This record gives sequence, structure tokens and C-alpha cells, in this order.
Amino acid sequence: TFKALITENTDNGYQSRVGERELSDLPEGEVLVKVAWSSLNYKDALSASGNKGVTRQYPHTPGIDAVGVVEEAEQGPFSPGDAVICTGYDLGMNTAGGYGDYIRVPADWLVPLPDGMDPRSAMVLGTAGLTAALCVEALLDTGLQEDQGDVLVTGATGGVGCVAVSILSRLGFRVVAVTGKSDAHDWLKNLGAADIISREDALADANKPMLKPRWAGVVDCVGGDMLVNALKTLQYGASAACCGLVGSPQLNNATVLPFILRGVNLLGVDSVELPREVKQQIWQLLASDWTPDLAALEAAEITREQLPEWFERILAGGVRGRVVVKVGG
Ligand code: NAP
Repeated sequence: TFKALITENTDNGYQSRVGERELSDLPEGEVLVKVAWSSLNYKDALSASGNKGVTRQYPHTPGIDAVGVVEEAEQGPFSPGDAVICTGYDLGMNTAGGYGDYIRVPADWLVPLPDGMDPRSAMVLGTAGLTAALCVEALLDTGLQEDQGDVLVTGATGGVGCVAVSILSRLGFRVVAVTGKSDAHDWLKNLGAADIISREDALADANKPMLKPRWAGVVDCVGGDMLVNALKTLQYGASAACCGLVGSPQLNNATVLPFILRGVNLLGVDSVELPREVKQQIWQLLASDWTPDLAALEAAEITREQLPEWFERILAGGVRGRVVVKVGG
């Protein structure tokens, strides 16, 4: 037996607790990994609260991120003893996830832990860090350069947002962060934000079809009117990378006008089904030229026993930055 967080659908709603599972409970797969660290993402809280778009079958072990060491592998490319990262695909959704001592997954869900990156740091970044880097890459692919103007990051104190602030600032961009947390301004500035604006300011005039052009690029983690206003305030020809929906999945106040009058672009970013080769390249960047300021991120470290209270907190938008979860590490 091994220890795992188990989420069940009970008479009192969805409840999670640390319990015991058997290796035979894990799905068929090619590689058995002993998990050292996992992390907390918004999606983990959705899984643990019964969101059917994320997880259909309970009891279930959430955890969309895991880093650890290969214990058994049916065939290559991985061998016992290799340090590996697993993020995305079906991990923690309908496949038992990183909040268990073990995961068993197909080999092509795994990437090697990059040289120079320790396992805990990999989970300080996790899916959020990978997604932030993908958003930055999507903007750079359009030709965005530092001298074009300010780059806006929404949901800036969230997991994706704070890593995006740090990477963009490291790459030389002037970053403006939107946050609803008035007590997090110094923390965001320490991460590299040059300016901070409130959610209310970022959401002002949402009923107008166009607004004054302002941003050379946008990383949006929020969706809804936040993204729509960002589109209306993009400079001519600029782009917004869209990755999240904590505000809303709807784009109710959007029109085609910013697209057809200012030639702006909306770039979709997905870290889940992305080909493994691309994931591996991005992890290499995160371990080298793009490494965010990990100390300034001040990630919280929690145990699996603490997860239920943190699920509530992240669903309420009350978590600042990243949260690493100690599993066997
Ligand atoms: P998170 O840590 O909860 O961060 C979200 C942040 O958004 C919060 O900290 C808060 O920041 C802000 N926020 C929360 N509720 C809001 C609201 N109602 N209106 C405006 N701002 C709000 O979540 P995360 O893990 O960074 O994920 C962010 C989003 O990206 C989620 O929707 C997640 O599902 C999505 N995501 C997508 C991918 C992908 O592959 N596309 C990968 C990872 C995550 P402030 O208090 O600073 O405003």
C-alpha cells in the first residue's frame, strides 16, 4: 500500500483526505514513478470539488503535476532511477495524480527533469510555470520586442501570472500587473512588475467597444471582461495570449472591432495536450535562460493533509503565488 490524497463524493459533498491505495489501483501504464513533489493549481481544486469537466469518476486522487524518480519502466526511453516530470495530459484528471506516492503513466507523458533543475524547483514552477512560459513564447513568436511598450499580465498574483511577470521582466520587458490583492504590490514589484493596476481599473468601461490602445502584449489568466478589455486596449497589431478562465469563460462584451480595426490577435495557449517535444523544450528554457526568480516567488510549501483548506483558498482566488506539495520529497 501507499499513501495518497483521496477525493470522494460523500453525502456532505466532495471531501478529500489522505488514505491508502494499492499499486494495483493505479491504471495500466508503461512507467511507475515514485513521486517526490507535486504542486497546487486551480485545476486541482476543480478536480477535488467535483468539477465534471475535469474529473468524472470518484474516488479519485488529484494532482496534475508530479516530479519523481522512475521505479519501473516496461521499455525505453526511461529507466529506473531517472528523474522525470509529469504535467498535463490526463494526470490528475481521470488518471490518479501527483498527490499519491506513486503514479503510473505512459512514457510519452514524461519529460526528463532538466539538468540544473532540482525536483522541488520543478514543482515551484509546475503546470503554472510551463503555461506562463508558453504564453511568453506565443507573444515572442509574433515578434514582440522590449521596445514596443508595456506588457500586461492579468491574475498576476496567481500561479501562472506571477511566473509570467518574472519571466517577462527577466527578458527585459516592462511589465504591468493586474491584481485584486492590494497587499501584494511589493511582492509583485520584487518579482519584476514595473507598475500595478487594480482589477477595477482593468475592468473599467467594459461596455465600450474600443478603448485607448495601451499594451504591446498581454498574458491573460482571467478570461471574461478582463480579457475583452485587454483586447480593446492592445496597441495596433499586438497580441494577447489567453490561458485561463478564473474570471469567466465567456467573452460577452467582445466585438470583432479590435480585430478588424487594430489587427490585434488572440493567441490560445494550452499546456495539457501540447506535444511532449515542445514541453521538453520549454522545461529546458525554464531551467536556463528563462528561469524565473524562484526566491522572489516565495512559494508556500504544504503537506497533503493541508490540501483540503488550500483547495478552498485557491477557488476563492485567495492564493498568492505558487504552492508546492511535499509528497515523498
Ligand atoms: P490561480 O493561482 O488561482 O490564479 C488566478 C489568479 O487570478 C488569482 O490569484 C487572482 O489574482 C486572479 N483572479 C481570481 N479570481 C478572479 C476573478 N474573479 N476576477 C479577476 N481575477 C481573478 O490559478 P492558476 O493556477 O494560476 O491558473 C490561472 C488560470 O489559468 C486558471 O483558469 C487555470 O485553469 C488556467 N490554466 C490554464 C492552463 C492551460 O493549459 N491553458 C494551464 C494552467 C492554468 P489577483 O488576486 O492577483 O488578481
